[in-house]
Amino acid sequence: MVNTCGFIDKAKEESINTILDQVELKRKGKLDKVYVTGCLSERYKNNLEEEIPEVDAFFGTMELPLLLKKLEADYKAELLGERLLATPSHYAYMKISEGCNRTCAFCAIPLMRGGHISKPVEELVKEAEGLVRKGVKEVMLIAQELTYYGLDNYKKRALPDLLNRLADVKGLEWIRLHYAYPSKFPLEILDVMKQRDNICNYLDMPLQHASDRMLTAMKRQITRKEMEELIAAIREKIPGICLRTSLISGFPGETRADVEELKKFLEVQRFDRVGIFTYSHEEGTTAHHLSDTLSSEEKEQRALEIMEVQQDISYELNQEKVGKVYKTIIDKKEAGRYLGRTEFDSVEVDNEVVIHSAKKLPVGEFVNVKITRAYDYDLEGEVV
Ligand code: SF4
Repeated sequence: MVNTCGFIDKAKEESINTILDQVELKRKGKLDKVYVTGCLSERYKNNLEEEIPEVDAFFGTMELPLLLKKLEADYKAELLGERLLATPSHYAYMKISEGCNRTCAFCAIPLMRGGHISKPVEELVKEAEGLVRKGVKEVMLIAQELTYYGLDNYKKRALPDLLNRLADVKGLEWIRLHYAYPSKFPLEILDVMKQRDNICNYLDMPLQHASDRMLTAMKRQITRKEMEELIAAIREKIPGICLRTSLISGFPGETRADVEELKKFLEVQRFDRVGIFTYSHEEGTTAHHLSDTLSSEEKEQRALEIMEVQQDISYELNQEKVGKVYKTIIDKKEAGRYLGRTEFDSVEVDNEVVIHSAKKLPVGEFVNVKITRAYDYDLEGEVV
């Protein structure tokens, strides 16, 4: 069973290559059937059925009951919320809602995932309690648009309520927030973050760009000035908060001046973490009507240039951590050293703390680590 992604060209390519690998295994007699599900399948089902007929069946994102039927398995509604973890047992992602009501010009996600549907608070609390019983200590709350949570089912922005309820779950030591949309950001979230010790002082807020021309073209419903005011308000409420953002390079019409403006913005704002995607021209999005004139090399080059600015910032911010002690979760042992993360680092996308220790350290547990060296994107330290 191949679970696919289909939101940008690179993800689509990876998904198709994975399907083809499985089809090859089927051809060699090593597999009986190949089923495909997920976003790519939702978006391009008809084309895929034609192009890769060796696949036994394709399913859309809402067709889990059909897929189970095909496998002659029961769809047990009472098991909703039960989880098998694909991650190590001490952390897990928790999806608090599905879909998105925003209309960002470049984004194909609403085409595949539909409108925003929040999961009820009770269901999520139950899910979190179940995860803790399995050994989970850290949850990463994710959604296509985190701050919209509750506007559909509770007719209000209910993320602060949800956070309070999750923070009450005994054994949950870190709750981390990913993918907050900046326009009309509900600042009450930060009050909860401040009051509750187990909500990480960490916020992942994709901004996509900084030039007003680009923000308007991308239909982001926010201006550069408003973003600057929001960042200042966030930092005022939670001093020392770790801010992560992600950006897009090479959106249609992006000029050199826009790139320079974005670089300047990063230099001034000094985000702790930045990720960047090159623009992918997606059918069905409003940006698809614009001319995608920049070559992929140019988009990559711009992304590189922007990340070079961030690399220096990240290096400088990391140097400030040397000599300080951080509560660190041990993720794994690799090549004779331990790899961990602080409250300010999410899984895979952020810094790692490399710990040399002659003593055995417990994977999945917390230790206090004094930072002894810092690099562009990683830290090194010893247990104290
Ligand atoms: S808020 Fe995020 S998921 Fe929703 S349309 Fe914009 S980029 Fe896509």
